[in-house]
Amino acid sequence: MKALLIAECRDGKFLDYSYELFGFAAQLGAEATMLLVGKEGELPECGGTVYLADAGRYGEQNPDLHKRLVLAAVERERPDYVVLMHSSYGWDLAPRVAAGLKVAQLSEVVSVADDGFELPCCSQKMRRKAKPVGSPVVLTLQLGAFPAVKPAGAPALQRIDAEGEGKLEFLGYEPPPPKGVDLGRAEVIVSAGRGIGKKENIEAIAALARTLGGEVGASRPVVDSGWIEAGHQVGTTGQTVSPKLYVACGISGAIQHLAGMKKSGFIVAVNKDKEAPIGEVADVLVVADVMQFVPALTAKLAK
Ligand code: FAD
Repeated sequence: MKALLIAECRDGKFLDYSYELFGFAAQLGAEATMLLVGKEGELPECGGTVYLADAGRYGEQNPDLHKRLVLAAVERERPDYVVLMHSSYGWDLAPRVAAGLKVAQLSEVVSVADDGFELPCCSQKMRRKAKPVGSPVVLTLQLGAFPAVKPAGAPALQRIDAEGEGKLEFLGYEPPPPKGVDLGRAEVIVSAGRGIGKKENIEAIAALARTLGGEVGASRPVVDSGWIEAGHQVGTTGQTVSPKLYVACGISGAIQHLAGMKKSGFIVAVNKDKEAPIGEVADVLVVADVMQFVPALTAKLAK
């Protein structure tokens, strides 16, 4: 079984989450080959064949042109799976590749099932199982769902090119607005989740963060609800953090949140549900009402 893994670069740098593609291929037991539109000086640290296309010529984010490169690599490799990350790059490119090959596509795979794949549905509240028919199959993987794996050795380079002009031109990236808080350097982060109930309760989380000498983080619903600015979000679409202490307050532990904080040194979770998934990564799970526990803890620590 063969998998063609479509890796990513941004601003000339190889993106580390592309190594999760190898973790997925390993779970399938597939022989992995990578395609990268990047620079020769910025190759991944891994063994195996890497088809390299020049980002200077094709642009880093040009799904219209990159589709042709993927189809050229498929022609050479004849893979059973063409696999991308479920990133803005992957979700633009995957359907074009599937349409070009006239094959099945599954988006945001979270796990390999006995006879198919599991994918989220209903705003991540449920999972569905799907079995692709035919070959090859185009898949995108949810960020953080599979382990990052670096196959040993140095990459064996093969150049790849594609003919024709695209219907899109990649102009560059727009940098995000400056963030008010740098969670990446914080040694302590106290994060608020939807379980805090309302915007006014952020102050109790901030008070605990101040008492511990840390910063305030948040899950995405807290940001989406306008309870705190976007710069505080932790997770796949927020910041990736690894403080010495991470206190998750009223956060369920969705995979996209865990991807951003599971490397923290010591994790304390406060949740009224003792079965909440955050318990699987937490060193300590306090089963309590967050708005009773957090102010009481802050008062105790302040003494
Ligand atoms: P919920 O899942 O609603 O959990 C609330 C928790 O609070 C529950 O466990 C509940 O038991 C507990 N609770 C409720 N009341 C109390 C109380 N009084 N006391 C104690 N506990 C209580 N999410 C992120 O966080 N970061 C991301 O970067 C991110 N990126 C995403 C990207 C994509 C493409 C998608 C599809 C989703 C993304 N999400 C992200 C959203 C993610 O899937 C979850 O929806 C989100 O993390 C859930 O946030 P939450 O844990 O605060 O809320």
